[in-house]
Formats: sequence, C-alpha cells, structure tokens
Amino acid sequence: MNPTSQVKAGRTYFVADLHLTDERPVATGRFFRFLQEEAKGADALYILGDLFEAWIGDDHDEQVAHDAARRIRALVDAGTPVYFMHGNRDFMLAQRYAALSGMTLLNDPTRIELYGVPTLLMHGDTLCTDDIAYQAFRRRVRRPLILTLLRHLPLALRHRLANQARAGSESAKAGKPADIMDVSAAEVERVLAEQQALRLIHGHTHRPMRHVHPVEGHDRERWVVPDWYARWGYVVCDAAGCTLKVEAL
Ligand code: MN
Repeated sequence: MNPTSQVKAGRTYFVADLHLTDERPVATGRFFRFLQEEAKGADALYILGDLFEAWIGDDHDEQVAHDAARRIRALVDAGTPVYFMHGNRDFMLAQRYAALSGMTLLNDPTRIELYGVPTLLMHGDTLCTDDIAYQAFRRRVRRPLILTLLRHLPLALRHRLANQARAGSESAKAGKPADIMDVSAAEVERVLAEQQALRLIHGHTHRPMRHVHPVEGHDRERWVVPDWYARWGYVVCDAAGCTLKVEAL
C-alpha cells in the first residue's frame, strides 16, 4: 500500500461552493490539486452543491466542465467515491454529467452514518427560510416539469436565462439584510430533530464555522464549509470528529 493512502484512509472530505468557471482559473487549479493531494486515498468526497458557478444543462460547454469530469473520474477510479448534491447554481446537473465524472447524485437532504455519527448533509439554501422571495423562486424552478422543460430549450436560450437569473439574484442580494441570507437557527433545529441527526454539514452561506445547536437536550454540531472565492478549504471528518480547514487562495 502506498504511504499516502495509509494516511488518508479513515477520512471523509466535504466541500461546497467552489463556483468553478473558466473565469476563475486559480480556484479551478486549487480544486484539481485538492483532488490529487488531500482527497486522494480518502474514504469519500462529498461535494455539497455549487461545484459550478452556473450549469445550464449537461451540454454545458465550459472547458472547466470537461476538465473537472476527467479529474473527478480519476479520483473515483483510484478508489475514492465522490458524491454530489445540487446547489442553487448547478441544480440542472443531471445523470449524464454524473456518469461522465463518476459522481453519485445525492438528494438534499441526505442522512449518512459517518463513523458512527448520524450526519445530515445539505446544500444549505433550504435552511435560509427567512428569505421568503428566494424560497418561492426555488420552489418554482425545481419542479420536475419545469426542469424537464428547461432541459429541452436550446443551449443559447438557456445561456440567456441563466445570465438573467444570475443578474436578478445579485441585485436581489444587494437589497437584502445580511441575516436574511444566513440560515434560520429555528429551521436548523427543526431539521436536525426531524432527521434524528447529531451533526449537520452544509455550504451555501459562505460563512465557514462550527456551530452548536442544543436540540431536545443534546448538543448537535453544524459545520459550514467554505466557499472557494478568495479562499479555499473543506470540512474533514474521521472517527474522532470533524475539523474545518480554510486557507487563502
Ligand atoms: Mn449556494
């Protein structure tokens, strides 16, 4: 056995909000190094949404989409399974790209047994229940019928719609108080109780941190993984617990 995999076995990595695009080659380069270095030999890698800045269908034509599929597949082929959960940017990512990259698609939320600890995985956008306008938008665009219709539109039209949606979301964000775009503690505690989980790992808010929520007399951990804009990082867990790593890009 090679020394790298001896060290990494027994660990599971969680990333989110990489927002990969051809326009941000430094983040892309760091992610590809992460796949070859940190994640190599790990028990699993979970990508909890917003791997891509935008995704308009599995015919998405950025170079980074092709390169990421090849690099992720190399990690999977080397024995580390990679799981993908949709974010609000890449919810159109479908089975074709998942198969190409070797990723297994996960529902949001998904509950796993992580070294014996019932752990809930989410992207995090559904926890921001104070943002009523966003939740209404999300319910509209994530209907199966709407998704099917969107997938059948011509590529150029999907590009235009994605650009409009992004511009709309940027201007809506600019007018919202910061705490509306964070998760609601009440919703976090409701979901943890409902799912009987002792730990929650999510992204989306770009506020990397470990929080503790007392639910039904037990302290439950909530880990928020970092975005990959001016920084990069992950949450890594083993049998002893989790740690958060954040570095400047
Ligand atoms: Mn997001």
